[in-house]
Amino acid sequence: MRTGRQRITILGSTGSIGVSTLDVISRHPERYAVYALTANSRIDGILLQCERFHPEVAVVGSPESAQVLHAALRKKGLKTTVAYGEDALCEVAAAPETDAVMAAIVGAAGLAPALAAARAGKKVMLANKEALVMSGQLFIDAVMENHATLLPIDSEHNAIFQCLPATYQRSPGQHGVDKVVLTASGGPFLTRSLDSLDKVTPEQAVAHPKWVMGRKISVDSATMMNKGLEVIEAHWLFGIPAHQIEVVIHPQSIIHSMVSYVDGSMIAQMGNPDMRVPIAYALAYPDRIVSGVSPLDLTQMGQLQFEKPDYHRFPCLKLAYEALHAGGATPAILNAANEVAVQAFLDQRIGFRKIDDVVARVLDRVTTEKSLSGLDSVLMHDHAARKMANSLIFS
Ligand code: NAD
Ligand code: MG
Repeated sequence: MRTGRQRITILGSTGSIGVSTLDVISRHPERYAVYALTANSRIDGILLQCERFHPEVAVVGSPESAQVLHAALRKKGLKTTVAYGEDALCEVAAAPETDAVMAAIVGAAGLAPALAAARAGKKVMLANKEALVMSGQLFIDAVMENHATLLPIDSEHNAIFQCLPATYQRSPGQHGVDKVVLTASGGPFLTRSLDSLDKVTPEQAVAHPKWVMGRKISVDSATMMNKGLEVIEAHWLFGIPAHQIEVVIHPQSIIHSMVSYVDGSMIAQMGNPDMRVPIAYALAYPDRIVSGVSPLDLTQMGQLQFEKPDYHRFPCLKLAYEALHAGGATPAILNAANEVAVQAFLDQRIGFRKIDDVVARVLDRVTTEKSLSGLDSVLMHDHAARKMANSLIFS
């Protein structure tokens, strides 16, 4: 890595993770410079970010948005180059001018640029779990073959990363790892009667009790599909088989996950629930820097509770374990069906409890390949699953 400031590309800079990343960066101007920022449609948001952080490049979703942003930037005397579309996202992710990439686009749209960063051998800070769920071994191969550094941003995986030995090489057996335990808050509907779930609104579903996040991941937390995607994510990140990945509900969200070793030790990472902690860890790794998050006050913490998840209440979690067992393109199908169903719920076209139903039916109906032959195969299954999910929702 070059000396001097680390130059960062933030994919999805206007989102919840993007904004938290810029908050941490702003505390350390001597360590980090922003090379590129990207946003899909929030032009006002990315304009303000360009004024503050002076990136060399800004990427937006359409030629119309690019024109508007370009004009607004020049009016303010800013020189940031504006581009649009997926190719431009891949270019800023792989550019020689950038050292590290925060992959924080939501959903499948983030796969190509995250993969481009891995192929270019960058330090990839991965928030976009859907990218890894979809592409699995292909993503890991791209990281290994190009000597990229893959650092998890998801709080649970960041916690596990911190609890594993520094020499850990994606082989649990060699390091005495018995299992990893992912904690889950249980979301806003943990104790609500099952019957009343039919009537919950998108606003109720996105009102997460512990974390402030984008709308899609908030709904995923309410169904616990988020934890299901995280089980698959943990499998690929750490090379751990499904039966050694456990989920436990911990409503206080103080312990962010744990690693249990064969000698009976269990190592946990704790902190206030604020994504700036894992973001700061990944930015400075292997150093530690101030993140803006206050330390835990143990005397004020009260009780920590843990319970087993109920598959009857959270069928999405079971579907995700099954998809991981099935392998091949099945996780990509699960992810695509879920993205379509969640959007349909947010658009008030289907009820909350239809989300798992749509995903289960798509998994039953779309035929899969046993192993992924390449990115084309991932995208083909993603496309087929979206088509099937839409036809189930609109029929
Ligand atoms: P968000 O909805 O707040 O932000 C999403 C970002 O992606 C925005 O900048 C948006 O402009 C961009 N984007 C959306 N669609 C796009 C498209 N088609 N093309 C290009 N850009 C697009 O989401 P978020 O909560 O910041 O989550 C981002 C990712 O991080 C997700 O994969 C999520 O699962 C993961 N994550 C988030 C949190 C959290 O606390 N928010 C925690 C763990 C993991
Ligand atoms: Mg998480």
